[in-house]
Amino acid sequence: MLNLDKLINQGVAGLHPYQPGKPIEELERELGITNIVKLASNENPLGIGPRAKQAIKSAIEDLTRYPDGSGHDLKQALAQQHGLGSDQFTLGNGSNEVLEMIFRTFVGSGDNVVYSQYAFIVYKLLTQGIGAEHREIPAQSYGHDLEAMLAAIDVNTKLVCVANPNNPTGTFIEPQVMAGFIAAVPKQTLIVLDEAYTEYLAASERLDIAQLLNKHDNLIVCRTFSKAYGLAGLRIGYAMSSQPISSMLNRVREPFNNNTLALVAAEASLQDESYLQTSVRLNAEQMQLLEMFLQQKGIEYIPSKGNFICIKVGPQANDIYQQLLKLGVIVRPVAGYGLADYLRVSIGTESENRTFMDAMNLIKL
Ligand SMILES: *Cc1c(COP(=O)(O)O)cnc(C)c1O
Repeated sequence: MLNLDKLINQGVAGLHPYQPGKPIEELERELGITNIVKLASNENPLGIGPRAKQAIKSAIEDLTRYPDGSGHDLKQALAQQHGLGSDQFTLGNGSNEVLEMIFRTFVGSGDNVVYSQYAFIVYKLLTQGIGAEHREIPAQSYGHDLEAMLAAIDVNTKLVCVANPNNPTGTFIEPQVMAGFIAAVPKQTLIVLDEAYTEYLAASERLDIAQLLNKHDNLIVCRTFSKAYGLAGLRIGYAMSSQPISSMLNRVREPFNNNTLALVAAEASLQDESYLQTSVRLNAEQMQLLEMFLQQKGIEYIPSKGNFICIKVGPQANDIYQQLLKLGVIVRPVAGYGLADYLRVSIGTESENRTFMDAMNLIKL
């Protein structure tokens, strides 16, 4: 008899699959209702931007050909935006795949990875899958305890991962503090700075990535088109690093990891300043309204710099999640993160958020 338990890579044996937000179609099938509001996966609620949409339409005829495996045009556009060389970029099928490439390239089973409690769960999953040692550092006020993370780094630490702002907690590290941390990490450890929500920050809250990469060749910065740029369904993200690092990541990259539509849409979306600004403004306005609502209801929350917020609904969080589903609102349980009393709610359009608040008013807390 085939003994799969003996065959399976021991790291993978201990893995629990990533739990995505419940898809709208699934809830529609289950409840037989429409008009479902999904506030579960931090997507841009405005729908795809006009420039990206046009680029996709124009590229349909090209789909019979393989994509440009080097992502030349998108890298050129990114290089210009960030003031870096185009050979400093690595494109991925979502920034998730970029993280995967980084782990595959640098982490082996005898190594360790440092990350924070409540940090984006993919760092833990990738460490586990490789069978490397987890150094999960207790959080401080739900955010990264950078000093303790520094202290946990040793000669076997290949990566220290920081999500800023963090998902799911929305906690934020000020740029000067982050720059100090980057400078303090030992040279033989790579810093993976995951900036999936950076577009939602004020200009004064952002780091100068080109300047930092010039100074620190152990820095890798990850970005995505899935959140503020509104392209989650296309799967595209990227890393910025030194050229030697990007060329190493390129060794493990599968040949055509970015599809043609993702490449053209991402490039076009970089030109769509107005869509990006509208998205960021909507998020700020609606976040404020939601916070007022939570305060009025006496619901605690973790202040967030992203396009989502973790609300404290207590030990009955899963029950409230289920009740919200029945009312046609999908939010995200975060018990898998060790936040069993919380639900994460993405910021939607005004009408979506209104639906969420109306539903909360119907639920006995
Ligand atoms: C959403 C998210 C990502 C991954 O996004 P992709 O869709 O794979 O680009 C990475 N990091 C954080 C912190 C996220 O929240």
